[in-house]
Amino acid sequence: MKTHADIKIYGIVQGVGFRPFVHKAVTALSLCGFIRNTSFGAEGEFEGRREDIQKLVSELLYNAPTLAFIESVEVVYSDTLRGYIGFDIAESIKGEKNRTLISPDIAVCDDCLKELFSESDRRYSYPFINCTNCGPRFTIIKDIPYDRKNTTMSAFPMCGECEREYLDISDRRYHAQPDCCENCGPKLSFYDFNKKELPGDAISLAKEYIRDGKIVAVKGLGGIHLACRCDDDTVVDTLRKRKHRDEKPLAIMCRDVEAARRFAHISADEKRHLTSNRRPIVLLKKRESNSLMYLSENGYIGIMLPYTPVHHLLLADGVDSLVMTSANISDLPIIYKDEEVFEKLSGVADGFLMNNREIHARCDDSLMWVLDGNEYFVRRSRGYVPHPVCMSTKLLPILACGAEQKASFALSRDRYVFPSQHIGDLKNLETLENYEAQISHFENIFDVKPQLLACDMHPDYMSTSYADERSQKERLPLIRVQHHHAHMASCMADNGYDGKCIGITWDGMGYGTDGKIWGAEFLVGDFSDFSRYGTIRPIRLPGGDRATHEISRVAASLLYDSGLECDGTVKKLVESGINCPSASSMGRLFDGVASLIGIAQTASYEGQGAVLLESAAADGCEESYTFCIGYDGGMYTFDWRQMIRAIVSDKNSGVDQAVMSARFMNTLISFASEMCEKIAHDTGIKTVALSGGTFQNMYVLKRLRTSLSALGFDVLTHRRVSTNDEGICLGQLMIAQAQSKRR
Ligand code: ZN
Ligand code: ZN
Ligand code: FE
Repeated sequence: MKTHADIKIYGIVQGVGFRPFVHKAVTALSLCGFIRNTSFGAEGEFEGRREDIQKLVSELLYNAPTLAFIESVEVVYSDTLRGYIGFDIAESIKGEKNRTLISPDIAVCDDCLKELFSESDRRYSYPFINCTNCGPRFTIIKDIPYDRKNTTMSAFPMCGECEREYLDISDRRYHAQPDCCENCGPKLSFYDFNKKELPGDAISLAKEYIRDGKIVAVKGLGGIHLACRCDDDTVVDTLRKRKHRDEKPLAIMCRDVEAARRFAHISADEKRHLTSNRRPIVLLKKRESNSLMYLSENGYIGIMLPYTPVHHLLLADGVDSLVMTSANISDLPIIYKDEEVFEKLSGVADGFLMNNREIHARCDDSLMWVLDGNEYFVRRSRGYVPHPVCMSTKLLPILACGAEQKASFALSRDRYVFPSQHIGDLKNLETLENYEAQISHFENIFDVKPQLLACDMHPDYMSTSYADERSQKERLPLIRVQHHHAHMASCMADNGYDGKCIGITWDGMGYGTDGKIWGAEFLVGDFSDFSRYGTIRPIRLPGGDRATHEISRVAASLLYDSGLECDGTVKKLVESGINCPSASSMGRLFDGVASLIGIAQTASYEGQGAVLLESAAADGCEESYTFCIGYDGGMYTFDWRQMIRAIVSDKNSGVDQAVMSARFMNTLISFASEMCEKIAHDTGIKTVALSGGTFQNMYVLKRLRTSLSALGFDVLTHRRVSTNDEGICLGQLMIAQAQSKRR
């Protein structure tokens, strides 16, 4: 007895080899009918025995291809047969509602690599080889549905042979939209510093340049990289000078895990992430913490493995590890347009390895630690974006505009939140333009018209102005979210937690509800509301912004406030109170202490003092300084003055920097644990969320978590979005959702 079934499949099923997979399953089960892509995923009609259709559904749910992401499968049975003969893959239709999900860019797969290096293959050494299981996706998609005509591959009509593969359901390239070969696809070319195209094999020329110590711009998936040898500090110094990137760590790309092990310790979990098809930059402990200082001045080094065929060809023989850093100048966004490359990188790159395929969406490399076997993001971007974060309830269409540093935004649809790729610090026009362009792009490809906006409370953030303008222009309600409340909510949402919790939100600075600068907060609340239960004694910042760069000013201010001798100029500033704002900021406390201990006197990038202090700290030192927690105006306050005096006395008696650094961070862990016990005693809440840029410090993160767990707390840490301000948008969105219900 035959039956008919209409099946709808929701999720990422396009461009991931889903239809051939269905074809195979259907043939094995002797079902008839068709399947086609739709804007929500795929749909099909199937006829055959009911139990076989049920088997198909369970195949769809449990055995879909690796890159597929099946959200749900809807089946409607009926007795009216259409009388299908055989099985068909039908044209995709663009529905009235675009409800599709889009795959991130995926590293070249093993099958393609085999062909790339096999002389007898027709794609031997073809640098744009890809298939249904790998290759560019997000960065080339201009519109949906995901068909070649809606990607930047539309400029390359397929040749006969590629088309044959594309149409052959038994072929690995069946319906692989970016499929191409030497005869029909994009091509590489190599230019010298003068923009003159050089004759000869582009890859060989680039390798030659690199081997000779030159700097080569390499066009990749989501933007341009600058590549050079990583084993020669003079070459790397030149790169830093030209890029105006004085001290920030540089990532390297290694041929394989074996090559990477020369630089760093790699655990089994770290290896799994390094070699995953998402290919993030993984922050790894250096083999020797004082080595490779010209690449990274702290104890970690960021390593990634090759993810495009071009990378594999560049690293195939000869030099096996390269500096591979985003081509941008100072704080501007990554360069991605051909016409910008020569102009903006003139004087920076000596050679240019380019191709003629347009990049549609900029997307930087992702950067993460591996924590408990999972991603712990510093930057969630290529390989992960635009994959959604799934929530347990349906959300309004909301646009959350993020913060300022590490700007990002998030858009919601149904149960999905789509956090954007890395945008950069929203402090210049170029970044703002990219921010606005990516918002429109996301709204288009996910077909979301926001009904509600959320932004930070800070009046001067560009993201706030953007939200304000849009709210007025489109008459949309706008919810302003306190920065640290958003951090806490982000960590809650990240863990699927929606109860009440204590949020330890530590970062550089965020705008408080009292108009003051906050940054070392103990909040209590949930998505809809919060109260401030604890913080640290405010730190005066002589010279305002100048103190974030000249961190010795913060040290002087800490000394002054603790009743100790300090620098005369700073003393005058603090006493006059002119241009001397106060901030209860953990980031600034780290800066001040880093300077006191003698680790750094200036900071050329955000958090530098803290990063250096962490890598200076001795393992195995368990002591803390004594401290006291005051209770004032309904709030617990950690008074750091006693600690500062103890550090100075340590320093005067010649205690090692490593020991002072450890003692300082141990003190933070002790006081935070004690503060949580007090708050738990007052509120009965035993769940703690850790969020904010300070929790990029692995020493503090891991030990604070251990300490709180030992006290019986459930500790939430980030898993799917970044702990720094990049993750703020998720929290803003969840808070806006919760608060909209109360209106
Ligand atoms: Zn492949
Ligand atoms: Zn071809
Ligand atoms: Fe923050």
